[in-house]
Amino acid sequence: MTMDKTPLAAVERDKLLASLGATLRDDLKAGRRTGVLVLEISQFKRIQVTYGHARTQEFLRELMRRLVDALPKKDKVFYRGGDEIVVALCGLRVREQLNLAINKIQRIVAEPVVLCGNSLRIGLTIGASVTLETPIAPEDLLHQANRALLEARDRQRETVIFDPSLEDEGVASLELQSLLSDALERNELVSVFQPKVDIRTGQVVGVESLARWHSHLLGPVRPDLFIEAAENSGLIGRLTIWTINNAAKQYSLWGEQAVPIAVNLSAAVINSPELQRQLRHALSIWGMPPEALSLEITETAVMEAPAHSMESLRFFADMGIRLALDDFGTGYSSLAYLKMLPVSDLKIDKSFVQNLASDASDRKIVKTIIDMAHNFDLKVIAEGVEDEKGYQILMDMGCDIVQGYLVSKPLKPEHFRKWLLEEQWRRPAQAGRRPACA
Ligand code: C2E
Ligand code: CA
Ligand code: CA
Repeated sequence: MTMDKTPLAAVERDKLLASLGATLRDDLKAGRRTGVLVLEISQFKRIQVTYGHARTQEFLRELMRRLVDALPKKDKVFYRGGDEIVVALCGLRVREQLNLAINKIQRIVAEPVVLCGNSLRIGLTIGASVTLETPIAPEDLLHQANRALLEARDRQRETVIFDPSLEDEGVASLELQSLLSDALERNELVSVFQPKVDIRTGQVVGVESLARWHSHLLGPVRPDLFIEAAENSGLIGRLTIWTINNAAKQYSLWGEQAVPIAVNLSAAVINSPELQRQLRHALSIWGMPPEALSLEITETAVMEAPAHSMESLRFFADMGIRLALDDFGTGYSSLAYLKMLPVSDLKIDKSFVQNLASDASDRKIVKTIIDMAHNFDLKVIAEGVEDEKGYQILMDMGCDIVQGYLVSKPLKPEHFRKWLLEEQWRRPAQAGRRPACA
């Protein structure tokens, strides 16, 4: 049995994945299966509080030793930090061996550990996954075991073995909320930036900041899922402040290449005084001019609380910040009302933009929106532009700005700079022109 040299130093994710990857390759070649168990020690906090750090380490060491002794030599045991241990079960002939290993581990753990003269009995919650005949990446197998662990916690079961239906059910929202709260503390969120270009000149006129979360437990989580979890749990305020601060910081780091940045504002935070305070603060400490920040607010969010929202929108607009109506076309704005809003941009929802080339009624809608917006002196941004035909149609319709995979997917901040410098995008109508940065 192999064991990490320093069992109590938490294994780095890359090392864990590399080691698991090697096992997967060997097992696949030999026609065997690989199992992964994620073990979570119940009441771990209580043990730490009661016995202190040194004793807890001693206890963990003892637990690791028992696992190492009991499992076959070729298996691998990793301490993942906190209350978590990961076990790779190698060379399984049949799936049932996974159950046998789990039973064995439960038995070992049932034996009390003596700490400070007290005999301590602990419990484990186990999430398990096992390979099928087809190859699987180590991070996916680990993700499945993590997913099974969450399910076990949720259903208060000792063990859950991953099965694909778990993915369909989605992550239990409460679990997601608590992980997201941790994630904000652990700095697991990052912002990516998607360029917007002037449809006629090809110039990059700004970027939209989009949040990404790579959870240490769940792997990548879809933005719409975690934004919804944030909105439902009241975490959206913290998330938004984090995003704005990050945008302002990025703006200052980009220096000469800086372009205006748009940030999404959920309905729940539009009227938050704390947000307004923090926003001023972020702009001032990073030296970002308010005109370089744009706030995207969905049409529906504004319509939900018109009178109240209007005041907040005025506040932002008076500061010099640009406001954009997002996802336009999906809500029910009254035109009269729209005229009164202090917004300067209107973003046509991507559902109308994606099939422009093939859908005549989408073309009619988009043309109507563009003309109406121009009557109100609003700039029109089309989002979700994926092909050249769509781009050309939008240009013919008089659209001002485009954003979408045709131009670029959302980019990590360091790649954005490179993308700008290396001229990775040329507008279709005039290939060869540099999409220069302002
Ligand atoms: P959104 O504001 O409508 O953002 C545009 C979404 O369209 C992004 O999805 C973007 O990646 C995607 N997209 C861009 N170009 C294309 C394209 O050509 N084709 C297709 N099919 N999609 C394209 P993403 O990043 O998954 O974000 C989803 C939603 O999550 C966003 O929709 C926004 O409502 C929300 N969101 C993301 N980050 C934040 C944030 O920091 N705060 C808040 N409040 N919401 C956020
Ligand atoms: Ca948006
Ligand atoms: Ca949108």
